[in-house]
Amino acid sequence: MEVARYRNLNGFLRKRFGHRVHKVGVCGGFGCPNRDGSIDTAGCVFCNPRSSLPKSYDSSDSVTEQLRKGTEYVSERFKAHRYIAYLQDQTTTHGRVDELEKICEEALEYPGVVGLALCTRPDCLPSEILSLFGRLGQKTMLWVEVGVQSASDGILRSMNRGHTAAEAEEALKTLGELPVLTSAHVILGYPGESEDDVWATAELLNKTRTDGVKIHNLHVVEGTPLARHYREGLFEMISLEHYAALVAEFLERLEPDVIVERLTGEAPPEMTLAPDWSLHKQLALGRIRSVLEERDTWQGRLLGYSIEELRAILRSDLTPGGSLVR
Ligand code: SF4
Repeated sequence: MEVARYRNLNGFLRKRFGHRVHKVGVCGGFGCPNRDGSIDTAGCVFCNPRSSLPKSYDSSDSVTEQLRKGTEYVSERFKAHRYIAYLQDQTTTHGRVDELEKICEEALEYPGVVGLALCTRPDCLPSEILSLFGRLGQKTMLWVEVGVQSASDGILRSMNRGHTAAEAEEALKTLGELPVLTSAHVILGYPGESEDDVWATAELLNKTRTDGVKIHNLHVVEGTPLARHYREGLFEMISLEHYAALVAEFLERLEPDVIVERLTGEAPPEMTLAPDWSLHKQLALGRIRSVLEERDTWQGRLLGYSIEELRAILRSDLTPGGSLVR
């Protein structure tokens, strides 16, 4: 039997709710300050907002209708009947707070929805948004996902993120004081990123007591500045072998109670330019698990945690920040 070597999201949610819980994507028509000129107009070099829209998305659908379509699909495919409504388009906190609150309340009314998750940037958390998170976090499990990407300011600049690592750290610390769960999106193996940069990203998450992490490989999506750079031969993509090793070494340096929500990232096949292996999620996941197995290593090992200590955490539903989880 395969030994669990990291703390995955499904296991945590099953412990917490006693059932399988699945995320269902919802779009609220949010914008992005890195595109509308508030910060920049070019956006992050890797981002094409169309690539993260749910397959069934129709802009005329209400939140309820989106949830109806999404839950029908996941209950049939994954036999899941509890859901987290996931507001994933662009920067959900860049807009009117009352509109965001209305969308969240509508999602929470939907049968089977047991929590909310939403994506934002470190520099898009004004006090009215924090107050809203405080209110929502008192009534449901709210995950606030922050685009951190890297602890290296040089890498953040080449991604055209428009924020610094210090801002990401501050945002995670601020959110950690609210009754919400925090999650950091990171990209491992960006061109020019050193191993020390990757270790520093793990350290940033440990220091801020972030609850979860979504680890992504870089993938080149059509319609982005990165696609142009790739076609011009300005950089090479990381191989699956190298990425799997990097993920294993990142996990070894991550606190064992951090919930690992993702180990790879992918975009729709018709929009993906490279790498080919990102289109084969199970292959990539299998390789990462094999590397952990071959090296006989696990999440938190280099911080001094034994595999038994990791297993004890896997049996619990505790979160790193000690956040009040509803
Ligand atoms: S990744 Fe997020 S912050 Fe960057 S351009 Fe896309 S939506 Fe905006």
